[in-house]
Amino acid sequence: MPADAASKIQMKTPLVEMDGDEMTRIIWQLIKDELICPFVELKSEYFDLGLEHRDETDDQVTVEAAEATKRLGVAVKCATITPNAQRVEEYHLKEMWKSPNGTIRAILDGTVFRAPITVAGIEPNVRSWKRPITIARHAYGDVYRNAELRIDEPGTVELVYTKKSGGEVRVPVFEFSGPGVVQGTHNLDASIESFARSCFGYALDTHQDLWFATKDTISKTYDHRFKDIFQAIFDAEFAERFEEAGIEYFYTLIDDAVARVMKAEGGFIWACKNYDGDVMSDMVSSAAGSLAMMTSVLVSPTGVYEYEAAHGTVQRHYYRHLAGEETSTNSVATIFAWSGALRKRGELDGTPELMAFADALERATLDTIEAGEMTGDLARITTLEDPVTLSTSEFIEAVAGRLAKAL
Ligand code: NAP
Ligand code: MG
Repeated sequence: MPADAASKIQMKTPLVEMDGDEMTRIIWQLIKDELICPFVELKSEYFDLGLEHRDETDDQVTVEAAEATKRLGVAVKCATITPNAQRVEEYHLKEMWKSPNGTIRAILDGTVFRAPITVAGIEPNVRSWKRPITIARHAYGDVYRNAELRIDEPGTVELVYTKKSGGEVRVPVFEFSGPGVVQGTHNLDASIESFARSCFGYALDTHQDLWFATKDTISKTYDHRFKDIFQAIFDAEFAERFEEAGIEYFYTLIDDAVARVMKAEGGFIWACKNYDGDVMSDMVSSAAGSLAMMTSVLVSPTGVYEYEAAHGTVQRHYYRHLAGEETSTNSVATIFAWSGALRKRGELDGTPELMAFADALERATLDTIEAGEMTGDLARITTLEDPVTLSTSEFIEAVAGRLAKAL
């Protein structure tokens, strides 16, 4: 095992490192100590997004971490607590700080891509799936930023658009003769354009086809706008590069997409509107095994990357850890956040040794599972016979052993 700094793999540009909370913070340190720092002369700009430090800095640390990501281009983020009333009490917070992921996303203006990590022994429930399906979820607007009303007596509902310049447009929604409900949603061309550029860019980056689907036959203005914007940006900026790369973009209806996905082999990106992405990513991840076996990367339209795990801070395991009990928490998604960030750093810096290290780290992780050594969540669902259930730290040590041999 290389020990001195000079014999380790060198980095040119630092990564942005965002530390986090609870069980994933424990895992974060283990990964750095056992899997990264023995092999790589790690260069990082460290930001502590742990809840205490966010509170101390009035959440400025989150903003600074996002700004640094814009500057350096690649970040790796640990799961963090999004405070609720109970957390405000638990941590004696000055304020109920906003979700760090929300803050970072607002600054980077990105799209989140999530894909299952496939490994022999953890078989997808959909038999035809041979390769991962990546979900790209638009993260702005629609039903997540809606206005809703309960209708309790007969009356008329209209959409009223009052123009700044003075004009007015009215569209009847419904003439209610009895009680009911009504909802107004919106989206922005600029946000849909960013979403489209992130999707096309990521498809080129990962060399996969891109599917996009909405319900434009029914929603002839709203969903149709999404379809038109995607097509216009594709034609103007990406069509040639897709052809050169030998990949395809196609648009279809959401119901057709769902039917095709169930019969497909995988290995493509499925771009979804906000609600569809919320629902379909849970479907894809649970059909593929577990949230702890998902990669997640935020890609900005300008090509900035933030890698993270798709799961949370695994609070219940952390409380058991604090009580001195042995835990068996799956670190695979967090390991893959690190390998993803290091590989991207290597790609941008032209350091193939760093990219090869990322490959070796992922291979060692998957080999460990395929050898039957895994954490409890996987041991419960594996098709391998007689799996050995390892603790949180034993699993990382088992990966480290294989990694050292491979390097
Ligand atoms: P969670 O951390 O995703 O965990 C929910 C449950 O899923 C766990 O109790 C565990 O089930 C299982 N699980 C999730 N990840 C696992 C892993 N790596 N290994 C083994 N089992 C795993 O969600 P939560 O406990 O509801 O949320 C905890 C905190 O995370 C919250 O404060 C929330 O704000 C935050 N959060 C952060 C992010 C993020 O930063 N990206 C995302 C979501 C949630 P068992 O207990 O049955 O073993
Ligand atoms: Mg959901």
